[in-house]
Amino acid sequence: MSKDERFDVIIIGGGPNGMTTAAYLAKSGLSVCVLEERTECGGACETVEPIPGVRIYPHAMLMYASAAPGFDQLELHKYGFRMEWDPQDPLTQPTGLACSDGWREITDKDKMGWAKIGGMLGQPAFTKDLLRATFWCPPHPPEVEVTDENTPYMQVYKQNQPDMWTHELREGTMFDLMDEHLETEHFKTAMAFAAWASGAAGHWEGVAVPAALCVHLLTLPSTGKNSIPRGGLHGYFHSILRAAVHKGAVLRTCCPVEEILIEDGRAVGVRLRDDAASGGKTIRANKAVIAAVDVHQAFLDLVGPRHLDPGFIRKVKDISLKNQTLYVSVFHTKKQLTFKPKFAELADAKAVGPNRQLGLGIFPCDSREIYYENVADVDGRKGQPTVPPERLLWFQTPPQSFDPTDCQSNYPRGYISNAFEAAVTSPDYHKEGEDALDGYKAEMDAYMRAAYSNMVDGLDDDNVIHHWSATGRDIEFRNTGLIGGTWCGSRHDEDQSWTNRPIPELARYRTPIEGLYHAHQTSGHPGGLCLMAIPYNLMHILIEDGVAEPGEWWYASPWYIPQEGKISAKRD
Ligand SMILES: Cc1cc2nc3c(=O)[nH]c(=O)nc-3n(C[C@H](O)[C@H](O)[C@H](O)COP(=O)(O)OP(=O)(O)OC[C@H]3O[C@@H](n4cnc5c(N)ncnc54)[C@H](O)[C@@H]3O)c2cc1C
Repeated sequence: MSKDERFDVIIIGGGPNGMTTAAYLAKSGLSVCVLEERTECGGACETVEPIPGVRIYPHAMLMYASAAPGFDQLELHKYGFRMEWDPQDPLTQPTGLACSDGWREITDKDKMGWAKIGGMLGQPAFTKDLLRATFWCPPHPPEVEVTDENTPYMQVYKQNQPDMWTHELREGTMFDLMDEHLETEHFKTAMAFAAWASGAAGHWEGVAVPAALCVHLLTLPSTGKNSIPRGGLHGYFHSILRAAVHKGAVLRTCCPVEEILIEDGRAVGVRLRDDAASGGKTIRANKAVIAAVDVHQAFLDLVGPRHLDPGFIRKVKDISLKNQTLYVSVFHTKKQLTFKPKFAELADAKAVGPNRQLGLGIFPCDSREIYYENVADVDGRKGQPTVPPERLLWFQTPPQSFDPTDCQSNYPRGYISNAFEAAVTSPDYHKEGEDALDGYKAEMDAYMRAAYSNMVDGLDDDNVIHHWSATGRDIEFRNTGLIGGTWCGSRHDEDQSWTNRPIPELARYRTPIEGLYHAHQTSGHPGGLCLMAIPYNLMHILIEDGVAEPGEWWYASPWYIPQEGKISAKRD
């Protein structure tokens, strides 16, 4: 008789997608075990402490969850989720975008056009529906052809803002959409850059609406003054972890999974690595195994070739996990950073908290030529940057005041900045080899400081005590799940959209192995950067397959189409 432990569901990986799935399933009454290889859960939503008393956020800082049904379905407010909400009227607040010659004003046409694209001008506003239709809805079943009529966001526009609905809306680029509705070049450039850093770039065809809306996910909460969750994205993650634990999920850290056990074509459990901090090395699953780790590891290592069709393996190998990644810098300085004189005009409006943290936004937004130069460097030439520092596009995460003990507000010895981030080539695609970026670290640090110094004073050697920087390679080493740094996690062109992403066999989170599901930022639509989307969408599929039977709290996406012959995830 086997003495192996048993759970209804085993989840491999305790990052945001694994943990949110655990919270949903535990709330549905299933016994759930999450296995995490590191000492701490959280994946990219982590903090690090480079010196005692200084907590910084090396990856996730921005809130891409704004419209997620998970906030109320999982009742995150009961588990400590807090966000300062102090709305401002975007039409009246002083605003501007940073260009080489100083702030350039955003016009009313920009603001109204952007609001229109985001569903804010409907009577009533339909922004939440639009965001949910685009990101929090599972792809249609394979037997359903995707059309202009049944694409969820197209349905929402048709119903609420019919003058926006054209066939081209589903075909064009975000630049096409902005050229139609907005006015200034600097506003369009900033939004396209934010989309590129979020996944669906401003120049990609066929994803105009998802590209614009992934920026709306960020700009919407930013109409409140301090729009980052208290405790940052790590604080947000904690509320999900507590929700999972409160409903009975078992979390095991230092437990790397080495193999997914497959019997008669069905996933029946996992085998842990020999050095895992757990007595028994085999854990069995009654209903399902969910791989919440990257798509390559899940199929090429944990399942392995003997259980998979060679054609499927080829397709998995062909999934590129490497778009751009980010070069992240946080500064510890003696004196607070200040605006260069040409930006001083908005200094008061852009400073937050007791330490007057500066909100720098994106620089330099002059024109889309700058955007294309940066894209060519990172996605095209794939080497060290060739754009001069004054033309490097970068952004700073918003100023924040987390809780009163947070170092960004109250560190007693010097000042801690927000993260500065710039897109760089992913290590694997660097033409000089995957370790090249680390070899250039000192040079890159100096280059980044020169770039940021076009907007701020205080990044000189005399003032900087620490420059904590992470190259794309550092980021991968910190967390091997973090590949690509965008919510795409894989290339995103027309044949990859929605029902085909990342490959048709994995498009609805099912896999060729019965009882095995995949829930990670590197697979499916809309991908990891859209927080709580994969777990919510996956729930529809787990209900269809009879794995989960959630209580009255559950509601399906209104645009979801059930698969023929399966249990519908919609309530009657
Ligand atoms: C530089 C950078 C900046 C980012 N900024 C933001 C941001 O501002 N806002 C935002 O929302 N998102 C941001 N992201 C994206 C964010 O990281 C992802 O959306 C999110 O982490 C995806 O969650 P996940 O659960 O799919 O994967 P991960 O976070 O990668 O979690 C996977 C987990 O699985 C574990 N694991 C891997 N292999 C095994 C194994 N064999 N056995 C057991 N456990 C295993 C890993 O240790 C990890 O904890 C950023 C990413 C990067 C790289």
